[in-house]
Amino acid sequence: MKCDLLIGGADVAAEAGKTYSRTDPVTGAVATEAAAASVADALKAVAAAQAAFAEWSVQGPEARRKVLTTAADIMDARAGEFVDAMVEETGATAIWAGFNVHLAAGMLREAGAMTTQVGGEVIPANKPGTLAMAVAKPRGVCLGIAPWNAPVILGTRAVATALACGNTVILKSSELCPRVHRLIGECLTEAGLPKGAINVISNAPEDAAEIVKALIEAPEVRHVNFTGSTGVGRIIGRLAGENLKPALLELGGKAPFVVLEDADLEGAVNAAIFGSFMNQGQICMSTERIIVVEAVADAFIEKLAAKAATLPYGNPREKVVLGSLVSEGAAEKMDALIADATGKGAKLVAGGTRDGAIHSATLLDGVTPDMRIYTEESFGPVKSIIRVKDAEEAIAVANDTEYGLSSAVFSQDITKALDAANKIRSGICHINGPTVSDEPQMPFGGVQASGYGRFGGKAGIAEFTDLRWITIENPKQHYPF
Ligand code: NAD
Repeated sequence: MKCDLLIGGADVAAEAGKTYSRTDPVTGAVATEAAAASVADALKAVAAAQAAFAEWSVQGPEARRKVLTTAADIMDARAGEFVDAMVEETGATAIWAGFNVHLAAGMLREAGAMTTQVGGEVIPANKPGTLAMAVAKPRGVCLGIAPWNAPVILGTRAVATALACGNTVILKSSELCPRVHRLIGECLTEAGLPKGAINVISNAPEDAAEIVKALIEAPEVRHVNFTGSTGVGRIIGRLAGENLKPALLELGGKAPFVVLEDADLEGAVNAAIFGSFMNQGQICMSTERIIVVEAVADAFIEKLAAKAATLPYGNPREKVVLGSLVSEGAAEKMDALIADATGKGAKLVAGGTRDGAIHSATLLDGVTPDMRIYTEESFGPVKSIIRVKDAEEAIAVANDTEYGLSSAVFSQDITKALDAANKIRSGICHINGPTVSDEPQMPFGGVQASGYGRFGGKAGIAEFTDLRWITIENPKQHYPF
């Protein structure tokens, strides 16, 4: 299927008609023939967004809310198109794709509701007769860069709150799912967003670096948000810093899932399975390290491995829990991680099989710090189990990572669980819940190598507005000279 750029509300071919192909990771067929933007095309999108800012930024909350909630309804109505595009471009299951649409539509509705919360405050002033205000104002053109793994959610998140605050946006789509990302732009355009208030740019993989650089350097671009790997996040952070543009960076993770001796083991198994294997483990919040206290380790691991072994995997068009990984290369990395760990003494307790880009739910018991999987983000369905002697060691292992996005603690002793939650360095921690969880109104983001800044709710408004100090003063006030 063909997929043009969306610039100024119109379908636009890339300069010289350049395109690139995204292939289906399961069938190998071309899933999408996408426009491959040049730097000049990207700068056209910047100009269109800048031109639309004057109109969109002055609209009141009612008008903005109407567009965002209408876009949510359109997204729901076009769910089938999103699901088909996601299955073809990323190998995801229809369940994951459907959930993506549901949550993304919720994000648009929440952003719509937040339009009345883009406010400020009145602050007591020292100068007599002065009314001093802190007022949240839209920043201008905001650039959003989103990945392929939860493409409807993360593409929508990259633009929804920015638009709610009165900014105009450019969504730089992932090379791996240009059609899914473009559909988000279509929903908002169809909902009545002024032409140019959202622009969607796709690019060939080899052009990513120069296009992203040009977009960040464009003077009209006032804010950058990026969701993706920590490696590219460092490049984006550097470029944003050099150009003095604020940036929100949502990067990789290595989420710990801590099971203490008084955990509800059945609940812990269910949460660990869901958090580890939803979308084949390709979620930034995916459970990556299952840290279990020795006293309950054997009982817990036995139940966990038995459940993992029952999870059907295969072509996402069939009735499976685990669909395809995004590429065969990603699946080959799973084999390498397994070989490295088992070669150093880990025990394979579930899975370990692969067919092309499709990989079974896999668990490695007895993982130690010298194994690659202890530190590296697998971003796939191969999970490490680390045995520890007590809660103190569990917390130390949980913190033995450069990342810090999500985490979970299972214990029925709530004092102990809260103590662990407070000591784990991460942006998110769920007690007695899975590491994978997202709601539009919650502050979402990480610490350390997982990035900085927050999407969601009021934290998102702070991100996408400039807080200005505005006063009304007495013109006859006293001056010292
Ligand atoms: P990626 O970093 O490889 O690619 C993301 C984007 O970076 C793409 O749009 C690409 O065009 C751009 N890019 C690539 N090279 C570049 C360069 N040299 N300069 C500038 N831009 C460049 O990430 P991915 O593989 O698409 O996504 C997977 C990663 O995203 C995982 O690490 C995952 O943990 C992370 N992730 C984080 C969150 C979160 O909210 N924290 C959510 C989902 C995924």
